[in-house]
Amino acid sequence: MQVFKFGGASVKDAPAIRNLSNILRLFSGEELVVVISAMGKTTNFLERLLKAYSNQENTSSLVEELMRYHLDVLEELLPGDNEGRGRLTSLQQELENRLAVPYSGRYDYEYDQIVSFGELLSTTLISYYLQQVGVSNTWLNATELVITDTTYREGKVDWEQTASKICTAVPLAWKNQYVVVTQGFIGGTDEGTRVTLGREGSDYTAAIFAYCLDASRVTIWKDVPGLLNADPKRFPDAVKLDQLPYQEALELSYYGASVIHPKTLKPLQNKHIPLFVKSFFHPEDPGSMIGDCQLSTTIPSFIVKDHQTLLTIFPKDFSFVAEENLSEIFTLFAKHRVHINMMQNSALSFSVCTGTEIERLKACVAEFQPRYKVKYNEQVTLVTIRHYTPEAIKRVIEGRTILLRQTSRTTIQYVLL
Ligand code: ASP
Ligand code: MG
Repeated sequence: MQVFKFGGASVKDAPAIRNLSNILRLFSGEELVVVISAMGKTTNFLERLLKAYSNQENTSSLVEELMRYHLDVLEELLPGDNEGRGRLTSLQQELENRLAVPYSGRYDYEYDQIVSFGELLSTTLISYYLQQVGVSNTWLNATELVITDTTYREGKVDWEQTASKICTAVPLAWKNQYVVVTQGFIGGTDEGTRVTLGREGSDYTAAIFAYCLDASRVTIWKDVPGLLNADPKRFPDAVKLDQLPYQEALELSYYGASVIHPKTLKPLQNKHIPLFVKSFFHPEDPGSMIGDCQLSTTIPSFIVKDHQTLLTIFPKDFSFVAEENLSEIFTLFAKHRVHINMMQNSALSFSVCTGTEIERLKACVAEFQPRYKVKYNEQVTLVTIRHYTPEAIKRVIEGRTILLRQTSRTTIQYVLL
């Protein structure tokens, strides 16, 4: 059996969804789990809606816009269809009911209850469409299958419970239909409260299903020909990496390569399940493979992360930054879920580069303030080059101010202004 993941771009409009159905037809007769993200930029849109709700603003025009988008796509796929429309409007009703309840003040919790509607809408629409065009499938509710704790917006998976749920529900569904459609990004507590797995978490969902079901492979369908050594929007000469060992891919995702959610690879590596990244425009092309293989090339790979903050922390009493300080600093970062993308210490200071939202960061900084002086630069860029060369370095630093630099044998990182 195989697991497929279709991200937002691969289901963003009616032609993309038709294309998805054509890809599934190529695999008819095979047991598939199809993990689907929210359509296009819906997750960003729902984040806006959540902001409005949390500020007690009126959300009805945003809900209307959200529904218009989905209903228009449905109308283009299945003109005049009423049943599909009914299914989407019942989700709209559910969303409106949530929004009618006064905001609880628990932002992360509310996030998961509201932003998860993106995947609920997309999978409802697509599963229904597939059924109408002869790709029989069963829609499964990921909230009931991917069981997590209550770390809202970053649910920690309970693997034992998740495996038992998935291994019961999916084979049962396959008895009737070979295709199972489910939502990426969403899980739930054992009491059924929705929890999300973090932005871009649908890749991780695919890996969770693959791990639990011992899949033969996972395929992520994308609008690029495979894994590239850089973002083609920034590096027009980006090239495809044909195959990557898990370790190299893990390194790239650790440094923030946006191709694959960082938690995705570990479960796959643990069971030696290969991950393919393929173009949904050219399903016949080989794409890229991550698996038990050799590194096929050591050309430089570039990972650029914008909107970073560089924080520098100084003990106010001029003590050295050593074990006790560091353990205090890390405890606070962990408490506020500040994710560190790069760190460096000197005798009297400790610097970290992070992409964590500024509100979360400010709450953390407030706790540092009694004992530490904190300086920060907002809107800096973190550039990582794997397998760096002098030319590669020149390309990224030319004309920029370097705030921090760190090197190892294979990797160089710069924090740039
Ligand atoms: N829809 C979610 C997001 O945009 C999850 C995903 O696409 O992987 O972050
Ligand atoms: Mg994605």
